[in-house]
Amino acid sequence: MSPPVQERILIVDDEKINLKILADLLQDRYTLILAQNGTRALELATGKDPPDLILLDVVMPEINGYEVLKQLKDNPVSHKIPVIFVTALNSPEEEEKGLRLGAVDYIIKPFSPPIVRMRVRNHLRFLRQYRLVEQLALLDGLTEIPNRRHFDEVFKREYARAQRNETALSIAMADVDFFKQYNDFYGHAMGDTVLQKIAKALQESLKRPADSVARYGGEEFIMILPETDVISASAVAERARRAISGLNISHARSNVADYVTISIGLATGFPGPGASPEEIMRQADQNLYRAKHNGRDQVIA
Ligand code: GH3
Ligand code: MG
Ligand code: MG
Repeated sequence: MSPPVQERILIVDDEKINLKILADLLQDRYTLILAQNGTRALELATGKDPPDLILLDVVMPEINGYEVLKQLKDNPVSHKIPVIFVTALNSPEEEEKGLRLGAVDYIIKPFSPPIVRMRVRNHLRFLRQYRLVEQLALLDGLTEIPNRRHFDEVFKREYARAQRNETALSIAMADVDFFKQYNDFYGHAMGDTVLQKIAKALQESLKRPADSVARYGGEEFIMILPETDVISASAVAERARRAISGLNISHARSNVADYVTISIGLATGFPGPGASPEEIMRQADQNLYRAKHNGRDQVIA
C-alpha cells in the first residue's frame, strides 16, 4: 500500500504571529498553506489544488472571514471544504453567526494548543470517513440519494437497455430557482436542509420502480425515466415540480414565488443509430435553460 498522503490545511490570518503559532502547532502532521488575507485565501481555496480543511480568522482588513466563507460556499470548487473559524470574537452571537454560515467549528483565541490539534484531527478524520462512505455507497452525503457517479452508471445501463429493447428513455434535469439568493438570505445551513427536503420530495414523486433521481451537482437533480415517452415523462416532471412547490418552503428572495420552486428541462430519446446519451443530456440541459429563461417554476419538454 502507498503511504497516506498528508492532508492539506489552509491557514488564514492577517497577523503573521497568529499564522506562526498555528503553523508550529500543525506542521508536523499536515501540509500547510498560509494566507494573510481573504483574497489570497479565496485564490488558494478555489485553485487547482484546494485544501482539505481551512482555519479562518474572522476580523481581517478588506474581506473579513464571514465574507470569505460566503464566497467559498458559493463556489463549487470550494463549497464542501470544511472551515473552522479561529477568532478572538468570543460572543455566543458571533459563534452562532459563524456556524450558521456553514463553518464546522468555532475556536476562540487565545486557544489551548492541544485542543486545536485534536479538533483539527477529528474534523479530518470525519472528512476521510465521509469521503470513503460517499464513494463506496454511491450516495450523496447531504441528501442521501444517489450521487452523480451513481447516475452516470445507471444512465449508461438504462441507455443500453433502451437500445436493446427499442424503447424510449427520458431524462429530467431539475434546478432550484434562485437558490443563491436563498442561501444569501437564510444561510447555507438552511439551504442544505432545503436540498434534503427537495431530494426526498423528488424521490417520493416517482412512482415506477425503474425511475430514479440523483443529485447531479450543487442544487441540480436529475431523474431517469426508462420506458417513458415524452407525454408520460412530462406528467412525471410536472408532478415533481408540483411536489416541490407543494412543500411550501418560504423563499422571500425568489422572483417567481414566495416559496421554493424548481425548473425542469426534459428530454426523451429513442436510443438508436445516430442517437447518443450525450445528445439526450444536451437536450435536457437546453430545455432547462429555456425553462429558466421562460420565467422558471415550469417544465419544458
Ligand atoms: P437560477 O434560478 O437561475 O438557477 O439561480 P440560482 O441562484 O439557483 O443559480 P446559481 O447557479 O447562481 O446558484 C446556485 C447556488 O446553489 C449557489 C450555491 O451556493 C448553491 N449551492 C450549491 N450546492 C449547495 C449545497 O450543497 N448547499 C447549499 N446550501 N447551497 C448550495
Ligand atoms: Mg444551478
Ligand atoms: Mg438554480
